[in-house]
Amino acid sequence: LNAEIIGVGTELLLGQIANTNAQRLSAALATIGVDVYYHTAVGDNLNRMTEVIGRAATRSDVVIITGGLGPTPDDITREAISATFDVPLVRRADLAGELREFFERRGRRMPEANLRQTDLPRGAVAIPAEGTASGFHLEAGNTLVIALPGVPWEMVQMLQKVVLPLLRSRSGEVTISREVLVAGLGESHTHERIADLVAAQSNPTIAYLAGYGLVRVRMTAKASDEAAALALIAPVEAEIRARLDRHAVPGEGATLAQVLGNLLVARSATVAAAESLTGGLLGSALTEAEGAGDYFAGAAVTYATRAKGSVLGVDAGLLEDPGPVSEVVAGQMAEGVARLFGADLGLATTGVAGPAEQDARPVGTIFVAASWRGATEVRHIRGYGDRDSVRGIAVTSALDLGRLMVQADS
Ligand code: ATP
Ligand code: MG
Repeated sequence: LNAEIIGVGTELLLGQIANTNAQRLSAALATIGVDVYYHTAVGDNLNRMTEVIGRAATRSDVVIITGGLGPTPDDITREAISATFDVPLVRRADLAGELREFFERRGRRMPEANLRQTDLPRGAVAIPAEGTASGFHLEAGNTLVIALPGVPWEMVQMLQKVVLPLLRSRSGEVTISREVLVAGLGESHTHERIADLVAAQSNPTIAYLAGYGLVRVRMTAKASDEAAALALIAPVEAEIRARLDRHAVPGEGATLAQVLGNLLVARSATVAAAESLTGGLLGSALTEAEGAGDYFAGAAVTYATRAKGSVLGVDAGLLEDPGPVSEVVAGQMAEGVARLFGADLGLATTGVAGPAEQDARPVGTIFVAASWRGATEVRHIRGYGDRDSVRGIAVTSALDLGRLMVQADS
């Protein structure tokens, strides 16, 4: 089964919003073995919409359209689908009733304009509205056409409740991906170690996704069912992990913070963060995962040199010399924040994010520290790129050092 995704909305073409719907849809379709061959974006223009939808229908099994299902005159996806496939729009009394109730429950009168949202192409199956817009799917010749609202939250609800089950039942094949997170090695060094595996790949395929200081090696297998796909991946994953050794983060956590969180929960332990150049990013990363409250105690953003002393208790003398961007200060920050929050693990970042050097330390100088139940380790890293990059690398490095220490203590 192959699919094509069309984003509708002039704001996409103007660069006012990114087409995250296409990204979400593609990622979800990949998990159920539907190949996505095209992404298109088109403005709110009837002629161009019918042209794009018509072409998509000639070359794709499934066409998913997002956006343009609202009540305003520029929302014309319904009309465009009707025109493309020459099926009339029919007002659906059942949907109109639900829409009226939607407004009444909120104590509001339904604007007449909203009734347009209950016009569906004849023969379409409605997808229940999450807000005011119903989605729908329609068999048009050999093509399944699916229309979803543009609002990302509504789109995702319909995707999960209706679209994925519908497509899964049609495709007869599953695609499963697993990722190995690789920390502290870099993309080219990672590749060096597994290049022959990548060159020989077929099923599973192997791909890299590089982030700040972190590489994801993703293996994707297709098979008749999930167990068969996992069986294809297992030996390849084991080989990759063996070759990457300690750089391969254990487990299936989606992020390094999640992996660290899992390790902490398993030890009934907690973490606190002392942040200088990362300014809260480390705390943010640690709170991304659901259930972060089980292990995250808190973070102190001690950006000014003085705050490193007054809040974290770093020695005043050390803040003078060798200065705040140093191995010894990073270590005391980690110890201080663990004490401050009564946490088992203290993480700390200090460094020079740029663009200008600081105290003769070049841009990209990073020290991260981890203090785990009294033992402290510090790492010196040379970051690269702009401020975002340097700060991202600092976050990853701190999390990685923390997970190595916690992992070693089993
Ligand atoms: P509504 O009922 O809210 O009008 P709609 O189906 O008409 O929904 P649009 O008007 O096209 O959808 O978009 C509504 C909002 O959803 C946009 O302002 C935008 O913030 C977001 N949105 C639309 N399309 C996309 C997209 N492809 N990716 C991410 N966000 C989008
Ligand atoms: Mg709209």
